[in-house]
Amino acid sequence: MALRNIMNYQTDDILRKKARVVEKVDGRILTLLEDMAETMYDANGAGLAAPQVGVLRRVIVIDDGTGLIKLINPVIVKAIGEQQEIEGCLSIPGIYGLVKRSEKVIVRALNEHGQSVELEGSGLLAQAFCHEIDHLNGILFIDKIIPGTIINQKQE
Ligand code: ZN
Repeated sequence: MALRNIMNYQTDDILRKKARVVEKVDGRILTLLEDMAETMYDANGAGLAAPQVGVLRRVIVIDDGTGLIKLINPVIVKAIGEQQEIEGCLSIPGIYGLVKRSEKVIVRALNEHGQSVELEGSGLLAQAFCHEIDHLNGILFIDKIIPGTIINQKQE
């Protein structure tokens, strides 16, 4: 396992690109997942998407405090309700803001054994699923901050 460099939104265009579907869950993908988990924990994050470590693959890791989730090719198949919570992002240090997300989502993906799984998340976990899957499409939470709620920690 190894720590990977986290891309920054001001300098790394890769964060704006669409990640490619993983065709085969091989050793490279498993290593990527392990490295991403280690990098996320090292940075005290709740989630990380592969483009954030410079890899344009549809791979995410999340830990909302209830355990590590590693997903390949995640897709939101159902979204219910609405919530507004403060978000931040390891690729956008110092900036936070209110973002509107679904209150509950069902996500379909492959696990690290290449098996199809469905996960349900609400609250913080739903927020994390939406945030990380957005990354796979080149979308950042700053695109969605509710006007007037932005907090720039560096200026305070
Ligand atoms: Zn992020």
